Amino acid sequence: MNTFDTLGLKEELLSSIKNLGFEKPTPIQAEAIPHVISTDRDLLATAQTGTGKTAAFGLPILQNIDIEDKSVQAIILCPTRELCLQVATDLQSFSAQLKGVKIAAVYGGTSIENQIKKLKSGCQVVVGTPGRTLDLIRRNKLQITSIRYLVLDEADEMLSMGFQDDLDAILAGTPSDKQTLLFSATMPKAIVNMCSKYMQDHHSITVMSENKSAENVTHAYFVVNNKDRYAALKRLADVHPEIFGIVFCRTRRETKEVAEKLIQDGYNSDSLHGDLSQSQRDLVMNKFRSRQIQLLVATDVAARGLDVDDLTHVINYNLPDDLDLYVHRSGRTGRGSNKGDSLILVNSRELRSIKSLEKKLGKKVSYEKIPDGMEVCRKQLFTMIDKVENVEVNEDQIGVFIDEISKKLDWLSREELIKRFVSVEFNRFLSYYKKSKDLNADRSGKDGKDSRRRETNSDQFATFFLNRGRKHKMNPKSIFRLLDDQLSSKGLEIGNIEIFKNHSLVEIDKDYQEEIERDFQNATYKGEEVTFRPSQFTQKNRKSRKKKNPHRKFRKNRRKNK
Ligand code: ADP
Ligand code: MG
Repeated sequence: MNTFDTLGLKEELLSSIKNLGFEKPTPIQAEAIPHVISTDRDLLATAQTGTGKTAAFGLPILQNIDIEDKSVQAIILCPTRELCLQVATDLQSFSAQLKGVKIAAVYGGTSIENQIKKLKSGCQVVVGTPGRTLDLIRRNKLQITSIRYLVLDEADEMLSMGFQDDLDAILAGTPSDKQTLLFSATMPKAIVNMCSKYMQDHHSITVMSENKSAENVTHAYFVVNNKDRYAALKRLADVHPEIFGIVFCRTRRETKEVAEKLIQDGYNSDSLHGDLSQSQRDLVMNKFRSRQIQLLVATDVAARGLDVDDLTHVINYNLPDDLDLYVHRSGRTGRGSNKGDSLILVNSRELRSIKSLEKKLGKKVSYEKIPDGMEVCRKQLFTMIDKVENVEVNEDQIGVFIDEISKKLDWLSREELIKRFVSVEFNRFLSYYKKSKDLNADRSGKDGKDSRRRETNSDQFATFFLNRGRKHKMNPKSIFRLLDDQLSSKGLEIGNIEIFKNHSLVEIDKDYQEEIERDFQNATYKGEEVTFRPSQFTQKNRKSRKKKNPHRKFRKNRRKNK
């Protein structure tokens, strides 16, 4: 019963997916494919990463495409260039035997001219990021007034990346009789709102294996000061010498930064984030699959395409804003019969989220301490000793030298000998941890002192003026995103953000003022030029305004890592 043959797909499609090695449809495919083939009712599908969503919408759309008609019949929107390329490549292979079907991938960061050329040649399916898709529509190079399908893939991620406005604009130009298919890995409120906004009388499919997979996962949190986050990560890695896991970070910048430091410090690590080309991305994923990489540092979006399921650990370098994402992250370990640990680094101000997280998981998240240097050394040492005990000795080859070696070492006692062999491997480790300090912060939140003092110390910050405000729908998140995109320096400390009707004021580490000005020369946001320059407001007159400002609570601190 549960085979592709029964879903009503064309022979050409069946034979391609067979070539790809798909034997039977995944649950989401088994439900979505017949639905889309036979009805035009909108569809909301929720399923975890790796459950085969691309084929769930891709196959029935390809099935129903009118090959003779060279106009655009389906638009598939994805949050990032990588996902866009991935979906387009998948559709390409599904349609390998459907002569005359053309698929275009359109995304930013590369020449628009080539994409326009490709569109001109008559593509029935367009896979795009919201920004570039909208750009092409506005240039009249992409006609969407008669599309039959609109797919919002990874819809939750598109929303959390701030694409709501772009989506609204794109959707506004589509015909009302199209079929909308919304695919999401999580179901935050914003998605529910999106559904009622964009879809009529939709059918829902939910495939949630989260709770099942979560059974084998234990969750633990560690409280550290921001400045010790990286050192804490290292200790967690060191105390689990056989670790094979993903370190989740919130931003691309942080992802790159953490991976770079790990590599520098001699770990088998690399990063996966939105700035990589497809081939770089493939390279990293392959290295991770083959375990040449032990610690993969990744953003939530980038990790979505990754199908590795025997992780020992997931480390949350930060908690995600949306706790659904946490469920996803942690669900990447503890698969099958394996046990897995999801470790969370929080600072004392983020402690509150742990309570909400426990509610969400219906499970205890236990407090644990970052191990001290001695404990780490002990663990490393005994892992090594275990290896010594279990190593296979090649008698033939060692035998040739053994007399000579024994003679050379016969002045050493057994104990001396052990000490020396251990030291060869271990001295570097010991000296790193010799002066190591306690990285655990106070759970009462009192040790936030240090960071609090920094926050109110206005001498540390320069205030910048941004010519975008509430009128332009700026919020703290979109401002962070803008900064993240533009600034070349890593992890600059950001103080207060104040958003007014027509402009915003942002405090950033004063030491970087000139560099920031340089970074923002000719900067654009959503395709328009933006101004971001030192503001003439002094700290003093700003103080008095702060009281009335509703955005103060969004004050966010990011530490310079060094
Ligand atoms: P999602 O979008 O849900 O994260 P994808 O569509 O990217 O998942 O699919 C994840 C992986 O599973 C891909 O490598 C895909 O080729 C593979 N896959 C999808 N459907 C099947 C199937 N029916 N049988 C075997 N593998 C599949
Ligand atoms: Mg997908």
